[in-house]
This record gives sequence, C-alpha cells and structure tokens, in this order.
Amino acid sequence: MPGGVNSPVRAFHAVGGDPIFIASGRGPRVKDVDGNEYLDYVGSWGPLILGHCHPDVMDAVARVLETGTSFGACTEAEVELAEEITKAVPSIERVRLVNSGTEATLSALRLARAATGRDKILKFEGCYHGHADSLLVKAGSGVATLGLPDSPGVPRALAEMTLTVPFNDKQALTRAFDAHPREIAAVIVEPVSGNMGCVPPAPGFLEALRDLTEKQGTVVIFDEVMTGFRVAYGGAQALYGIKPDLTTLGKIIGGGLPVGAYGGKAALMDMVAPAGPVYQAGTLSGNPAAVAAGLKTLEIIRRPGTYERLEALTAKLASGLAGEARKAGVVTNVNRVASMLTLFFAGGPVVDFASAKKSDPPAYGAFFRVSLDQGVYFPPSQFEAAFISIAHAESDIEATIRAAGAALSSLRLAPSERGGGAPR
Ligand SMILES: *Cc1c(COP(=O)(O)O)cnc(C)c1O
Repeated sequence: MPGGVNSPVRAFHAVGGDPIFIASGRGPRVKDVDGNEYLDYVGSWGPLILGHCHPDVMDAVARVLETGTSFGACTEAEVELAEEITKAVPSIERVRLVNSGTEATLSALRLARAATGRDKILKFEGCYHGHADSLLVKAGSGVATLGLPDSPGVPRALAEMTLTVPFNDKQALTRAFDAHPREIAAVIVEPVSGNMGCVPPAPGFLEALRDLTEKQGTVVIFDEVMTGFRVAYGGAQALYGIKPDLTTLGKIIGGGLPVGAYGGKAALMDMVAPAGPVYQAGTLSGNPAAVAAGLKTLEIIRRPGTYERLEALTAKLASGLAGEARKAGVVTNVNRVASMLTLFFAGGPVVDFASAKKSDPPAYGAFFRVSLDQGVYFPPSQFEAAFISIAHAESDIEATIRAAGAALSSLRLAPSERGGGAPR
C-alpha cells in the first residue's frame, strides 16, 4: 500500500510517530491492536456523530444484511433516505445518492457546467472537495499536510479552468467575477471550512457569494459533505440562512458506511440521467447497508436535544483547551463551529488558508503525540477539524482537557523530552 495506508492523512506524516492500527471502537473510544484505548476526536473524519457502534445503527445494518448486500436495483429505503434529506434541507428538491463525497462534488460540478454551458469553476484556497481533477487545486488538509500545492497528474488545461481565491475574501471574489464575467459555471465552497482546520465563514461572506453568483448566473454549490447534519440538522445552510443551488453531502448520511449525495433545484437535477442528458451512475449507489446506517443515524440525531448537547460539550472542550494553553503559556487559537473544532498553534485569528498556514505544525505534532500517549486521539494534522459525538460524556471532555493540559505543558520541554517520535 502506498505509504502503508489507503488515505494519506492516516500515515501520521504531519505529526510524526507511527500510525495506530484500530481494532475496534465503542461510543467515544477506539481501541488499537496493542490494546490501548483512546478517546476519539477523529470520528472517522466526521461521519460518526453518534460515536462508534451505536447499538441501533449496528442493529439496522445487521437486519438489512440478512436480506442481501446489493441489488443494483431500486429499494424502498433509498426513497426514505432521499425523502429525509429533502425534508431536512429544503434547497434540495431532488437528490441522487452516490458512494463518496468525491463522487458527489465531481457530479455536481459536471451538472453545473452542463446547466450553464460554461467551463470555469471557482473554489477557495484551503477548501477540500474530494480528489477529482478539477478540485485538486489549492485543496487544503491532506494536500497541505503533504506540502503538495497541486497534484501531478492533473492536466494543466483542466486546472486552468479552476480559479481560486482566498476563503472569506469578498473583494477577491468580486475581482474574479469582474475578470471573468458570465464565464464561471459554479462556485463551490465549504460553508464552514473543515479542511484547513475549522474556519467559520466571516459575517456577510456567504451572503456576498450568493448575491454575486445570482447576478452572474453562476451555480452555487455548498459542499456540505462535512457540515451537513453536523453543524445543524439542516447543515450550514440552515445555520446561516443561505440557499445554495446545489448541495453535496456524505459522511453523516452514511452513518460510517460509504455514501455521498448531491441534490438541489429540481430544474438542475432534472438534467441528470435518466431524466436528462448529464450522465452519472453507480453500481453500488444507494447501497442497502449504507442507506440503513444513514437512515438510522438521521432518525437518532433529529431527536430533540442532540445539537444542544453537542454545542455544550464542544463549547466546554474549546474553552478548556484555550484555558490550558493559556496556563501553559502556549500561543493558540481555538476555532469552533458547533461540534467542529481546531486548536491552531497560531498567534493571530485564523480566517483563511494563509492565516492557517501561519500555525506551527511541529508544535501541533508534539501536542498530538503527547495527547495520544495520554489516551486522547486528536486529528493527526494541524489542518483538520476535531469532531465531538453525542457519545462523548462530560467526564470524557474533562479527561481530554486534563490530557491536553499535560500535552501543552510538555511543549516547553526540549523535543527529546516530549516523548513520541520526531516528525519525519
Ligand atoms: C470528506 C470531504 C469530501 C470528500 O469525501 P470522500 O467521501 O472522502 O470522498 C468532500 N468535501 C468535503 C467538504 C469533505 O469534508
């Protein structure tokens, strides 16, 4: 396996030390193959809003697996999941299920290009939208972590169709539209960025984006693969009250199994085959086990109190981490939206990719390794968000703050005294 992994950030290159191999998970914890237990703030990178092995989800999957694994034909549960998504996210009038977030965003882009007859797209520096060719330009996290500005293998002609401007920069966005009047098919954005670490939208930024695109006939795609059902049941678009033309989803709607989705205005979605000419298909799309896990997850998180609980737990963790950093005399900035959080080892506020990159990844690496030694598994990169689940108890958050406090204090020691391996 290249680098020993099936997805780059798992290799711990950004933090040093050897990756842990997971044997099992339960609630807020994972156990590695050596028998060590960790409080988990990765949550499979977002899907596990219920924590690991929620009994109702496991039961729903087990029951559906008695009926088969895949049919490549219609099932009732797909319709139920589609109905639940369109009910939860009113801008989604029609939805198509796919197998991953990457597939969702590349399909939404193709649709936007078809609908507008334009080739150019615009994305924001540091936002990650999966690894489709058009989107691997200034793409944050995994890519930033590895220090690869762009990926070889992406045709230059295609990359040239992707304009990039800084996140949260209204002026740069306006200039891009002025320079390419009525040429931009789509703007794709993480309405709360999670892939350069957690970076919230500045007040007025999403509104300005919506106004500019409406004037220019450009399709707005909210990539809510991470934020959908995470920052609110209706996603970031519900939290900030902005209606995109298309939305991409993934992660939570699959309950930890592989799912993605894209949807939006009926007039756009009706261009997708077989209703229309824009081709997109999938052998395993709407897979019964994944749909069952997603449906059950949504059923549980829409119960009253879920988002209030996540908010309270994460606020407690955020203020605890900030307090421990102050006590230890380590300069940090905590960014948080709902149950997404990043402890940036940076002095100034982090509002875009340039300011995120001013953080200190080696310091984060040392913090990560000592935290891991103390049984807390934060994301293995400075440029990723931590996720809190409803399985985390208040006592887990308190234990985490204590472990983080010890890790932060150790940052004043020489690297050789900190424990863990050196970053490599
Ligand atoms: C995770 C993520 C993706 C990619 O989803 P995969 O299922 O990993 O392909 C796309 N966009 C955002 C915002 C994501 O967080």
